[in-house]
Amino acid sequence: MLAERVKKIKPSPTLAIDSKAKAMKASGIDVISFGVGEPDFDTPEHIKEAAIKAMKDGFTKYTAVGGIDPLKDAIIEKLKQDNGLTFKREEILVSCGAKHSLYNIAQALYGPGDEVIIPAPYWVSYPDQVLLNDATPVFVKTFESDSFMVRPEALEAAVTKKTKALILNSPSNPTGMLYDRASLEKIAELAVKHNFYVISDEIYEKLVYDGAVHVSIASFNDEIKARSIVVNGLSKSHAMTGWRIGYAAGPSDILKAMTNIQSQSTSNPNSIAQKAAVAALTGPQDFVVMMHGEFDKRRKFLVGQLNTIPGMTCRMPAGAFYAFPNTAAIYGRKFGDRIIANSTDLALYLLEEAKVAVVHGAAFGDDKYLRLSYATSLEDLKRGVERIREALGNLKDGS
Ligand SMILES: *Cc1c(COP(=O)(O)O)cnc(C)c1O
Repeated sequence: MLAERVKKIKPSPTLAIDSKAKAMKASGIDVISFGVGEPDFDTPEHIKEAAIKAMKDGFTKYTAVGGIDPLKDAIIEKLKQDNGLTFKREEILVSCGAKHSLYNIAQALYGPGDEVIIPAPYWVSYPDQVLLNDATPVFVKTFESDSFMVRPEALEAAVTKKTKALILNSPSNPTGMLYDRASLEKIAELAVKHNFYVISDEIYEKLVYDGAVHVSIASFNDEIKARSIVVNGLSKSHAMTGWRIGYAAGPSDILKAMTNIQSQSTSNPNSIAQKAAVAALTGPQDFVVMMHGEFDKRRKFLVGQLNTIPGMTCRMPAGAFYAFPNTAAIYGRKFGDRIIANSTDLALYLLEEAKVAVVHGAAFGDDKYLRLSYATSLEDLKRGVERIREALGNLKDGS
């Protein structure tokens, strides 16, 4: 018999769509994937060289559980330069990806009776990590008309005596929303007033467009910093998803607990990847600028095109690498006898008929939308958009 907690969770739906698309590809079908959330660029050469050197130098043993000092120092310097945040080594933990950092936080902070507020649409792993630790996710709906920023009144209305934490993600996966400073300041005030933690997932920080600026909520004052845990990593900024390096920074008592948890589960993150991460953080950053420029071009192209497809409307996302079109006007239409009733039906229809993989909005807690990753070549974006246009053109009115 499996443990009770397993029954509450599901496998990551974004990874599930990706594996279905990969299986179709493996059987020879030309599938265009807008499904997965990872940069299509290869890891920069100087980062790979650092890993090769680490191996050749025999840097192949266990390291300190929470990460090697040179990496912690590089992270401390990054947080200071980019975010205006000052941390000590004991306030940093390097983990096997930012997802693992978030899981360590969940284990250290959440328990039975605790409520964790998650603005919706949300990244798929937040609710399940809360559930796996016997706490309760509390969703606060956000609206397209507010650019998907949580309304402070709605947030405050969701706070109870049991509220332990709020999980923020700016820029957001899936919506591409970026909080402005004034909105974050209001959220910070509420966190201090009601004394809950803010888990700030800043993994898309480097991908903000049109001159917008990413601000870390932890940077406003000591009171909010004492209640914040900043999560970041190398996966998205340096095209290093497979290397599995992420980190958390926050109050030393929490970080110490997280380090103890990690010491009893994975031990240190991969030693070679840690050396690569030092090179990524301290070496030249021209790759980040190049990738940003490419994503920006694709963003404008994709969103522009989606807005020309009947039934779809799409806000211009301010950050990350996702378009999040509203597809509610399509629901109720038919393909033969088949009714496209919701985002799941639509995503499945597009995969099977258009051979385009997208993720249904329901996976992120809002059925009115689809998520399309534009971390894929402009060529594929062009072909994919035309396939979507054609497949949607083949739908007939319902009833
Ligand atoms: C990709 C992603 C992560 C996890 O990244 P890792 O590869 O585990 O470092 C965390 N949060 C969000 C919102 C993401 O999209």
